[in-house]
This record gives sequence, structure tokens and C-alpha cells, in this order.
Amino acid sequence: MTILLDNATVVTMDGRRPVLEGQSLLIDQGVIAAIGADLKPERLGGAERIDCSGRIVMPGLVNTHSHLTEILQRSFRDNARMETWREYRMRTEEIADLSPEEVGLAARLACAEMLKSGVTAVVDHFSTRTGIGLDKVKASFQAFVQTGIRAVLAPSLRDRDFLRVLESRSPIGTSPDPAQGRWRDNFLALLEHVEKFPKTVSLMPGPSNPLNCSDSLLREVSEVAERYDLGIHTHLLETRLQYWGAKKLYRGGLVAHLNRIGFLSPRLSAAHGVWLEEREMELLASAGVSVVHNPASNLKLGSGIARVGELRRRGVNVALGTDGGDTSDSYSIFEQMRLAAFLSRVGKEDSGEWVTAGEALRMGTVNGAEAVPAWRGRIGRVRVGSRADLVILRPRIGLYPLNDVMQQLVFCGGGDSVDTVLVDGEIVVRGGRLVRVDEEALIEEVRPISERMWKIYSRIRKRPNKVISNIQKLYAKVRRKA
Ligand SMILES: [Zn+2]
Repeated sequence: MTILLDNATVVTMDGRRPVLEGQSLLIDQGVIAAIGADLKPERLGGAERIDCSGRIVMPGLVNTHSHLTEILQRSFRDNARMETWREYRMRTEEIADLSPEEVGLAARLACAEMLKSGVTAVVDHFSTRTGIGLDKVKASFQAFVQTGIRAVLAPSLRDRDFLRVLESRSPIGTSPDPAQGRWRDNFLALLEHVEKFPKTVSLMPGPSNPLNCSDSLLREVSEVAERYDLGIHTHLLETRLQYWGAKKLYRGGLVAHLNRIGFLSPRLSAAHGVWLEEREMELLASAGVSVVHNPASNLKLGSGIARVGELRRRGVNVALGTDGGDTSDSYSIFEQMRLAAFLSRVGKEDSGEWVTAGEALRMGTVNGAEAVPAWRGRIGRVRVGSRADLVILRPRIGLYPLNDVMQQLVFCGGGDSVDTVLVDGEIVVRGGRLVRVDEEALIEEVRPISERMWKIYSRIRKRPNKVISNIQKLYAKVRRKA
């Protein structure tokens, strides 16, 4: 398929020429084949021509940390910190025991929402109780392909429970849970299966959090990633309790430990990093690890504010993520860019350390692509040779008067203005409507699944819960020791 986007204002993400006026883009075989002011559409034969006069073309946004099935528990909880939220989320899923079909529908709805708001690539850090089977992974892949989004699925892995380790004060590197020992075979079977899907979808291992993994599991993950040239995705030091616990469990802190066991590398993208110390930031920078900032989730769950200015000053690649549908509670990267820029100014006298609009846009595009080996150098920019993951904005009233395109996309929010979206050169949103998905029907299909889960949650939250009272005790202890 050949498409010509004619006469557009183009946000390139090129440092020297970030915005170009009156440009045409030729898209051929999924790739941006040419960009210029003098591409003549009449010479292009059968190409579809889209008149982009008065429109803005920008790279598709990259959501580098997300959990798609959490859309089913959207806005179930308000004032719950991460550990409490997680306990309820898992118990609700455990009882609901979602079928592969239900997992697929949830993923489709989240992907549909993302595409409509200009997100063209997503890391789905996939976990679901009562476990991740091949059927559920297949259903997720089908959802990616059906909606047309680019995706890397990172099945969550764990072989111990950090809170239990904290309570029992077991030594580090305790023997892994034998039930999880088969992860490698399962993962390799998935990897083989993924070959049958288009190249826009892929897989990487996703240890849930190094605190929930034995050293032997983390070493195996590194080996598999190296052998098959994959990324690795994880959560890292999201909450104060994790920070406090990691200090107790690991000499010199968690990041130094991960460095000692060889887990840090440019393959790794680590979500949150709210509680990183400066030495830890330096270790991440020198190992080439990317950090994924999830500002909305960190605010909603009261986890804190990641020190993005300090991370960037040390040379860490910082990308953006939405986290799940019940922690942020949206899948919009436009929203994360705005929050990232604004939050970087809290308590910072020196305006030179603030995240500017241009930097926030980089975090939501190029940096997201750089964080994931499958995407590195292939998406995130508008330039010849990149895969054609593009968003065409038709500016709506909140963007006028249009004075500075980059600032306004971040500060005024461009989500409402998304008109057309291309992934790998295919149009998946046109005129603000999803091309491959019946949106109304999908909403109706997901509604009863979520209602069933809401009923389950309403029942279980009334019951006494030992895990939650332990979490409260642990937080009280953390506060006393502070
Ligand atoms: Zn997460």
C-alpha cells in the first residue's frame, strides 16, 4: 500500500529541524520512503493521497509500560496505595479466572483506546491470575493484530513474594518456587508461536519485579534475552516499601545487587524508578538501562514523583508509560507527557532542570522506541527509512491559536485532535474512527466482564484481609524508622 500525506506540518523529532512546514510524506510498504516539499502526487500512480493542509503529522506515541487487562478493573479503587491496590486486583482476578476470550476482549478495548489517542506502540507487561497460559497470550496477540497496534508482550515472571520474604527475613537468593521452574520452556514455546504473527508483534521476558524473583530466575532471563536477542521489562523501586525492603535485603541496595548478578544492560527497561538513589541512577546510566516514567500511576497510588531531571542529567534514557487501567486510569501518552513536564518542576528552583515540552515529546516517542530492542531505531521519529507509525492531528479548538506546535501538543494536550493513525503504513484510525474495530460493539462485549469483576471486588473488599493488614503494619514500621 502506498500513501502520500500531502502538505503537512511535520513534527520530526530531529534535534536540528524538529518542525517542518509544507511537507509531503510518501509511505510505501510500511516505511517512510520520502519526505519533501516537492513530492509530486500526480507521479505516484495508485497512491492514496491524504490532504494534510492545516494538519500536523507526528510520530506515533509509544506506551512503554502498560497492563492491558487492568482495563477491566478501571476505577475500581480510589485511595489505595500500590501494595493494597495490587492485593485487591489479584484477588479479584483470581476469583474471576478470566477466559482467554475475556483477556483478548480487554486487550482489544485498551488497544482501541490507545490507537484513538495516538498511541501506536505498547509494551503489555502481562500478568493475570490464575496464570498466563498459551491461550491467553494468543488471545492478546490476536487483539494486537486485530486492532493493528504495534506491541511487545512481556509475560510477567516471578518465583517468590517480596512481602513474604520481608516477613520471614529469608536470605536472598532463596530457592525458587519449583512451579515456576518451567518458565523457560513455556516462554520458548510462546516465542515459537509468535513467529506465526506479523512482525509488528513480539515478545520479551517480563520479571514482575526483581524483588519477586530469585537470582537464578533473573540470571536465566538474562541468558534467554541474550540468546534470542530480546528486551527485558520489569518494575523497579516503585514504592517506599520496596525501597525500604530492598535496603534490608540487599547489601548496597537493589540496583547494586542487580549489577553484581549481571542483570543490568541496554536490553532492560525498568518501570517507575521512583525511589532510586543517585548512586543507583549512575549504575543504570552506565549500564544503558532505560527507565519508564509513569507519572499518572505514581500520583494516583501515592507512590511519589520519579526524579526525571536527575535521571536525564546522568544520561539515562527516560521513556513514558501509562501503567494499567486501574492505576492511572487512562492509556493516554499525551496525558503522561503533560504530567512529566509539569511534575519535573515541583520543588526545582533551577528551570534548566525542568522537562521541556520538546523533551516530554521525546520521552513519548523516540525514548520509548530506544527503550525496547525490537523498536530501537525503527520507530519514534518521522524520517526516511523509519517504519510508518504516524499520527495525523486535525487541531481542535483547544489547540488554537496555534503558536508553538511542540509546546501545544504537550501543554494543551493533542489527544482530542487525533484524526488519522497509521501503524506500519496501514491506516488503523481514520477521521477519528477505528478502521478495524466496531467500537460500540466492543464496549458492549467488555461491559459484562467488568461488571462481574466489580461484583467480586465489592464482596471481597468487605472481608478482613490479612495481607492488607500486614501491608499497613509494614508501612507504619517504615514511617517509624524514617
Ligand atoms: Zn506496572
